[in-house]
Amino acid sequence: MKARVLSGVQPTGNLHIGNYLGALKNWVKIQYDYDSIFCIVDLHAITVYQKPEELRAKIRELAGIFIAAGIDPKHSSIVVQSSVPPHAELSWMLTCVTPIGWLYRMTQFKAKSEAQDTIGDGLLQYPVLMAADILLYQANIVPVGDDQSQHLELARDIAQRFNSLYGETFVMPATKLPTVGARVMGLDDPEKKMSKSATGSGHAIGLLDPPNVIRKKFMKATTDSNPAVDLATMGPGVANLLNIFQALSDWTDEQMRAHFSGMRYGDLKKQVGEMVASSLEPIQQRYQEITADPAYLDGILREGVERVMPIANSTVELVKSRMGLYTRS
Ligand code: ATP
Ligand code: MG
Repeated sequence: MKARVLSGVQPTGNLHIGNYLGALKNWVKIQYDYDSIFCIVDLHAITVYQKPEELRAKIRELAGIFIAAGIDPKHSSIVVQSSVPPHAELSWMLTCVTPIGWLYRMTQFKAKSEAQDTIGDGLLQYPVLMAADILLYQANIVPVGDDQSQHLELARDIAQRFNSLYGETFVMPATKLPTVGARVMGLDDPEKKMSKSATGSGHAIGLLDPPNVIRKKFMKATTDSNPAVDLATMGPGVANLLNIFQALSDWTDEQMRAHFSGMRYGDLKKQVGEMVASSLEPIQQRYQEITADPAYLDGILREGVERVMPIANSTVELVKSRMGLYTRS
C-alpha cells in the first residue's frame, strides 16, 4: 500500500505564487508516489469572517486552480473539507485532549488575532482542526510551506498525547518542505511572508494575475540600496526575487550564481517577471477551460468525497471506541 499524502489550502483571497511554490507545485510533483488527498479547507477559512457569496465562489475557483496547476483528479482526491463531516467530529475529540496553552503559543494565532476586533474561538482552535484534517486520514506526509511547520509539530504533539492517553491510534505525520520556495516573501515588504489575507496591490502575485500585471508588480518590488546583484551582501528583497526564479526554473545554485551575479536590479526584475508570467500562463489557460464547465468540477468534488469518506469514517469510529464513546459495532 502506498503511503498517504495530505495537504490543503484555504479558499480565501487570491491564491499567490507563495501558495504555488510552497505547496501546490510540490503536490503535483509527488502526487503519483502516494495515495494523495488535497483539501479545500473551507472550515479553516471561516475562522475569520468571509462573505458567504465570495466564499462559495472561492471554493470552486480553488478546485479549478488545483486541477489547472496539475493535480490529477483521476489519481488524487480533491475534497472540500466541510463536505466530510468527520473533519469537524475528530476536531472536537482532539480539542478535548489539547492543552489550551499549546494553542496560545502558535505564532499564526498571535499574528492573525492582532488583526481582528473580536477574536473567534475558531482562530485559536485552527491548529486542532488542522491536526484533525491530517490524522483523520492517517497521513504519513504533509507537504506545506514553512509557515505551517509549527502547526505540524503541534499536530504530532496532539497525536502523541492522544496515543499515550488512549493507546496507539494515530500515525505520526511528517512535514515535507520544498527545498526552494518554502517561504516566499511579500514583494512590497520582504520581511513579511506573502499571504492571501494581506492587502496592498504590490504585495502578492496572484496565480490568475494577467501577464502585464505580473510584470508591473515585479518592476515595483522592494530591493535594497545596491545597484546590482551581489550574492554576499544582498538584502531580503533581492534574495526573495532570486528564490522565486530558482523555484520556478529548478536551476542549481551554480546556474543561479553564474547568471545573476552583477546583474542590475532593473534587469533582474524583468527576468523574474518574465519567468513568473510564462510559468503561470499554461496554468491560467487550463483554468479557463476547466471553469467553463461547472458540472465537471462538481463531479470531481463529489467523487473526492466518495473516495475519502470510508477512510474518514473508519478513523472516527476507531477514535470513538478508543475514547469510550458510543459506537454501533
Ligand atoms: P492566509 O493569509 O489566509 O492564511 P496563506 O497565503 O497563508 O493565506 P494558506 O491557505 O493559509 O495560505 O496556506 C496554503 C499553503 O500555502 C500552506 O501549505 C502554506 O504553508 C503555503 N504558503 C502560504 N504562504 C506561503 C508563502 N509565502 N511561501 C510559501 N508557502 C506558503
Ligand atoms: Mg496561512
